[in-house]
Amino acid sequence: MSQPHPTIRPQPGIMGIKLYVAGASGGSVHNAPLKLSANENPLGPSPRAIAAFRDAADALHRYPASGHDDLRRAIGETQGMDPARIICGAGSDEIIAFLCQCYAGPGDEVLHTEHGFSMYGISARANGATPVIAPEKDYATDVDALLAACTERTKLVFIANPNNPTGTIIPEAEVARLADGLPPQALLVLDGAYAEYVTQPGFDAGKRLVESRENVVMTRTFSKIHGLAALRLGYGYAPEHVAEVLNRVRGPFNVTAPALAAGIAAVRDAEYLEHCRTQNEAWRDWLSKRLGALGMPCLPSEGNFLLAHIGGGDAVARADAHFKSRGLILRRVESYNLPEFIRITIGDEAACRRVADAAEEFVASRKDAE
Ligand code: PMP
Repeated sequence: MSQPHPTIRPQPGIMGIKLYVAGASGGSVHNAPLKLSANENPLGPSPRAIAAFRDAADALHRYPASGHDDLRRAIGETQGMDPARIICGAGSDEIIAFLCQCYAGPGDEVLHTEHGFSMYGISARANGATPVIAPEKDYATDVDALLAACTERTKLVFIANPNNPTGTIIPEAEVARLADGLPPQALLVLDGAYAEYVTQPGFDAGKRLVESRENVVMTRTFSKIHGLAALRLGYGYAPEHVAEVLNRVRGPFNVTAPALAAGIAAVRDAEYLEHCRTQNEAWRDWLSKRLGALGMPCLPSEGNFLLAHIGGGDAVARADAHFKSRGLILRRVESYNLPEFIRITIGDEAACRRVADAAEEFVASRKDAE
């Protein structure tokens, strides 16, 4: 890293940011590498979303709609939400950034869980705020620990439900207890990046809580089940007073026209979404059982990924190298303070079979070495 400039300096906090580690996408391989490191949808977007994206190519000289009315209406109709409380962003990352920009600054605290998504801390620091970490219980959000960590400086509390990278989920009653126990100046952000994968009946990712309280915001993304990660599209569902604040800092053209067009088509293709959800559930459960039987137990996951326990010492490094040699790019999670685990995105059937076969070989080679 170069030396800091003697007179031209960034805002306080910026240089304390550890760069985001993205899921790797290459490696030295025998077969074509298969990227299972970023929780992308292996089936891709709805064909209708691809068609809408292509159609958008005819009007690239036009600025996009600045109010995102059509997309907000499509989300509202399909999800039973009030379009007036929806705010769209370039990925849900941008909504997280807006929240930190608007509500947290120097002297303020942004609370998140031990193994929470790393953008919470990054966005907090980017605005000079202090990230505060609450412990988890059994790799899941611990509401009591979060409440105990709140102070009069706490401005934002982030939880992902299901959480990344653990895949665990907490019940709505627990989330409600968290919202109700927060100090009056704090806003609870429910990150629902993986919400569409949850199969528990009645799960709504926090929509009811947003609608019934003034201190709860939900974020959602088109990067996961909608398969549109490349387009950068997400949204927040917020109480009116929060939507009004975020809209003040949002750039007028923060979402591109092709992203808006594809997003509208994607959210309206319920049949395709259901297909992705059932495929994910079936192969996630299949792979979890196979890995468990091989001595790589996985945490119970409600997302499109598994967090498999590999072991201490250099076990993760060796496993990762082995998977790579078989053309499988997985996600090491040391940066999430989970050095004994590896995260595996649920691919299609062929990918899951390749992961299970490679895991079996790895376990056999470990036994041979003993
Ligand atoms: N929240 C969580 C929990 C995530 O895992 C991700 C993506 N890795 C995001 C938010 C951000 O997603 P995007 O910016 O692509 O919408």
